[in-house]
Amino acid sequence: MRTITHWIGGKPVTGSTDRTSPVFNPATGEQQAELALASVDDVDTAVRTAKAAFERWGQSSLSQRTKVLFDFRELVNANVQRLAEAISDEHGKVVSDARGEVQRGLEVIEFACGIPTLLKGGFSDQVSTGVDVYSFRQALGVCVGITPFNFPAMVPMWMFPVAIATGNTFILKPSERDPSASLIIAELWAEAGLPDGVFNVVQGDKTAVDALLNHPDVAAVSFVGSTPIARYIHQTGTANGKRVQALGGAKNHAIILPDAGIDYTSDHLVAAAFGSAGERCMAISAAVAVGSAADDLIAAVSEKARAVKVGPGREADSEMGPVVTSAARDRIRSLIGSGEEQGAKLVVDGRGLTVPGHDNGYWVGPTVIDEVTTSMDVYKEEIFGPVLSVVRADSVDAAINMINSNPYGNGTAIFTSSGEAARTFQRGVNVGMIGINVPIPVPMAYYSFGGWKDSLFGQSHIHGPEGVAFYTRAKVVTSRWPHVEGASGSSFHFPTSN
Ligand code: NAD
Repeated sequence: MRTITHWIGGKPVTGSTDRTSPVFNPATGEQQAELALASVDDVDTAVRTAKAAFERWGQSSLSQRTKVLFDFRELVNANVQRLAEAISDEHGKVVSDARGEVQRGLEVIEFACGIPTLLKGGFSDQVSTGVDVYSFRQALGVCVGITPFNFPAMVPMWMFPVAIATGNTFILKPSERDPSASLIIAELWAEAGLPDGVFNVVQGDKTAVDALLNHPDVAAVSFVGSTPIARYIHQTGTANGKRVQALGGAKNHAIILPDAGIDYTSDHLVAAAFGSAGERCMAISAAVAVGSAADDLIAAVSEKARAVKVGPGREADSEMGPVVTSAARDRIRSLIGSGEEQGAKLVVDGRGLTVPGHDNGYWVGPTVIDEVTTSMDVYKEEIFGPVLSVVRADSVDAAINMINSNPYGNGTAIFTSSGEAARTFQRGVNVGMIGINVPIPVPMAYYSFGGWKDSLFGQSHIHGPEGVAFYTRAKVVTSRWPHVEGASGSSFHFPTSN
């Protein structure tokens, strides 16, 4: 059985314990590797290594850092297929979808290649006679990324390109479910010439996470995962004096107005609900049909849901793969059942789906549930599976109220041909990322990604300008050179300009 290791100080490291967890192939249900789980000592080794590396990397020039980033960009670009296949084998998503996530991660690397421009400070000449003021930003030190299973390449890439470009060193703690991409990334960093110890990977579970949160030499923590863990990470990390951004779960609504084109809308809803088996934090899981939009929409969505080709992620004609674990499959099936029990109408039922030749895979087919109400579990829970609930609303305002009453605020979308309705919607919803006739409005790398309410704890959204701010802190310098003509002398009153 293959063992998946840590990566510390520029090389694979087995670690100090024999604690492991199994890594499965969701399409077959077979175990394919053992994952080494870090001990507190292993985490300490990683942090000390990253801290030592910061001594030099934090002093490296912008030119040196940019060169490594450009080389890393080329290597990731050349390894998209290799990364995508590793992701597909452990996560289950289809290879074309996995390629897409690497591509979106690559865009953050490209953004970080522009770090000399992004780190330009400000300068105010002659704020007082002979006095200038200028500002610049410096790295924090050892930064940590704790990431979820659903994007094993893209989500870490939301973090470390910006953290490393700004001069920090980094420790990634990937999900236990699909850890292999992290080691490919580590190899590519080494090949790109990143000094040993700047990028490290610690594999593990709660033991590793807690050791990172409690380590005095960790300066900042970026987390992406479910809401209860995000809240815990934020509370524990900030209590320990660390800078923390913790992105949580989601329940993303799409509002469909009667004036939306049914063909266009149903195509996009089906892709947004069932792509990656619904295991996306920006997946649409609640379609809010306004007024007369419902019946035609449900007919079109159901027909397209039944046509989705479900199969192993490695097969070229598969559109949707399995879900990540047998536990996730059982939970999703049970939530679908609860919808029926609580009075909703199961229009397309994916619970019984089988894939010939893959009897032990973790399959759940696309599922459409109509007449869902906001009190049902299927509406309240983040299902994180291929399930689209259709809720009905009388008006745009009622739909906006529904969204704003939901504890999550990650992404949302409206389908309409009315600019007025779209504008009311974009201004009225308490949600961080909004799509207008775009169902999965993931911002480009040069904007920042983040939700509101229970979808994000902490002030900073991730990557883009907010990412640069998160991984750096500001200095403002007030300088006077006494021999400058007219520069005044010292005084006991509070300094003012002259
Ligand atoms: P998860 O919260 O179970 O795990 C995320 C990370 O936390 C993993 O590295 C895991 O090892 C660690 N972890 C899990 N339990 C822990 C505990 N008790 N103590 C300390 N650490 C713990 O999430 P997941 O199932 O891997 O991913 C799916 C979730 O992530 C969904 O809720 C999804 O919405 C969310 N997500 C959010 C975004 C976003 O941008 N807001 C993006 C992707 C995924």
